[in-house]
Amino acid sequence: MKQILLIEDETGIAQTICVQLQLFGFEVTPAQNAQTALEQIRQTSFNVIILDWMLPDEDGPQLIPKIRQMTKAPVLMLTARSEIIDKIMGFEAGADDYLTKPFDMMELIARIKALIRRTEQQDDSQKQHALIYEGISLYLDMRRVEVDGKEIELTPTEFKILEIMIQKPGVVFSRNELIELVLGYDYDGYGRTLDSHFARLRNKIELDPKSPRYIKTIFGIGYKLGG
Ligand code: CA
Repeated sequence: MKQILLIEDETGIAQTICVQLQLFGFEVTPAQNAQTALEQIRQTSFNVIILDWMLPDEDGPQLIPKIRQMTKAPVLMLTARSEIIDKIMGFEAGADDYLTKPFDMMELIARIKALIRRTEQQDDSQKQHALIYEGISLYLDMRRVEVDGKEIELTPTEFKILEIMIQKPGVVFSRNELIELVLGYDYDGYGRTLDSHFARLRNKIELDPKSPRYIKTIFGIGYKLGG
């Protein structure tokens, strides 16, 4: 069931929207102010967030950057005012879509469905380019790495190491092989440089770098991923 967060302080409008969305099979969580909304976002993973422009504690456009820090869910902004300036400001603040009150309920449903479709397509295309090994997901296009769902910041060299090794789990790479593949030179003196890259990478991706789950040292030879 798709989860919708409805941030709207006018009870009448909130109730009408809730009832209609539920009829269309959405699960709706209402929030009457910004603070409650942020708490809800912390607890639940929403598919779409409907955000009213004017709230008692904070304006919708000011709330969007905070929402963005917490979730990738698309934000549909509602406003009672129809001035074009609101629309521009809404998009500048980072809203994904915009609807002016009063609106047709079917229009709202159509917009919500479109936003959900768009995010699902994005998720799919991101997954296609991901290399995955156990808890590690490496997204080549975005140069992004997640370990157990959390984003990890890697240097280009660390990323390259992971990119090479994740494609051959369990295979032992010799240090010379890795120096050539990762650092791009075929030279004996780079062993220590390589080892320091591996040490830093371990600190970033391993829960316990002393007893690594992913990157194993093969003494006298090199390294392997898992296995
Ligand atoms: Ca309001």
